[in-house]
Amino acid sequence: VAEKAVDEPSAAQGLQRFVAAKQEICDVMGQLETSFQSAKKFCEQTWVWSSETADGRQSMVEALRASTGEFVNRCQQMIRSVTRESMKVVFVGRTSNGKSTTINAMLHTRVLPAGPGHTTNCFVTLQGSDQSKAYMQLPGDPTPRDLKDVQSLTDALQQEHVLPPGQSVEIHWPRDQCHLLRDDVVILDSPGLDYDSDFDAWIDETTRDADVFVLVVNAVSTLSGAESGFFHSVCKTVAKPNVFVIFNQWDNLDEDEADVTGVRAQHMSKARDLLVRDLGICSEAELSSRVFFVSSKEVLKSRAGSDSRTTSYTDPSSAVVPGLNTHQSRAREFAAFEDKFEAVITSHAIATRFSRHIDEGRRMASVLTTGLRDLIQHLTDEAARVAERLHANTRLLQDLNRREAKLMDQCDKIIQDVPEAMYTELLDQMQAQVVLQLP
Ligand code: GDP
Repeated sequence: VAEKAVDEPSAAQGLQRFVAAKQEICDVMGQLETSFQSAKKFCEQTWVWSSETADGRQSMVEALRASTGEFVNRCQQMIRSVTRESMKVVFVGRTSNGKSTTINAMLHTRVLPAGPGHTTNCFVTLQGSDQSKAYMQLPGDPTPRDLKDVQSLTDALQQEHVLPPGQSVEIHWPRDQCHLLRDDVVILDSPGLDYDSDFDAWIDETTRDADVFVLVVNAVSTLSGAESGFFHSVCKTVAKPNVFVIFNQWDNLDEDEADVTGVRAQHMSKARDLLVRDLGICSEAELSSRVFFVSSKEVLKSRAGSDSRTTSYTDPSSAVVPGLNTHQSRAREFAAFEDKFEAVITSHAIATRFSRHIDEGRRMASVLTTGLRDLIQHLTDEAARVAERLHANTRLLQDLNRREAKLMDQCDKIIQDVPEAMYTELLDQMQAQVVLQLP
């Protein structure tokens, strides 16, 4: 059932597949927990009536009772942990390439401060909250701080520029205001790749569990050594990371269409060298659905706080035309990126986040099945032995009954036959006595 939850997580679409898979896995864990509870009760009852015999049975029941008790707790823990699972995307790129703007565009609202210069000097984690007001938490300080406006966050992020990797400013944003956060996506924004070259340390601390990386490149420059260096480091710890490359600020290209095509081809070639040739994390065929040319600023402006996406990803008219660089084409390409991003992050998270829980659930179910099967076999053997003894005793009883009946017959016979003779003899003896005593 758990496997089914992963392979066919209901009819939910897009990011909601993850939410639905989570729900189904929790349901399965709940069913397992009920089974363990019943098995535990069965063991407790079996224990009571098994006191007089059978050491083997007692130790079997005792072991099964202990493990089912432990499994009940484990199921409860796993349900709590699955409920907390989320999908994680990490944004990287050099400072001012537009990471914060891209995140805001995806969230349909200006959550992160964006602007020229070092606006984000530390890691920022953005996650959904059930509270109605946004708040932030600084590392080492659990007190929620009011997030009144973007400026208060800007101040906090700039003050915290000395934060080591592994620590981040947490922004908790009302879930019902952004569909990404509502559907359990956690976003990690990183300081610019030019900010710190000790990638290994921060990859270890922050990106090991990422489902997707989004590399934001400024389209008017090019992919740099820092960017490829970062992903070479990622590949040392993550076998095949899912990487999207966004050439942002595509609206800044004011050349004619022929040049646009040329610049696009150059960027594509650089992206191919990195993703296909050097890292081997994407095939040639996949490349066009991993590299996008967009204007996050325009998308953010057009969405202006609306939570619904206006561009249809599946609409054939939204197909990307490489030579074209218009506001509409950039908007479509951004939507195509989001479409692919949602598909990849959901599939990866479903495939990786729950496997540990599913394996453990399967192992526990197998321990219970084997234990119950052995115990039932043991009880069946014991019942057969008892029945055999009962059968032998019944035969003995029947034999005794038969003998008793025979004896009774004999007694009746004696009672019927013997008294006549006995009376005669007695009478004779008494008469003889009487005769002797006569004077
Ligand atoms: P970050 O440092 O990578 O997070 O970059 P920001 O998101 O703060 O953006 C840096 C600057 O680039 C800001 O002034 C943005 O308004 C601007 N910017 C971001 N995306 C675009 C875009 O698509 N087009 C244009 N023209 N400017 C952009």
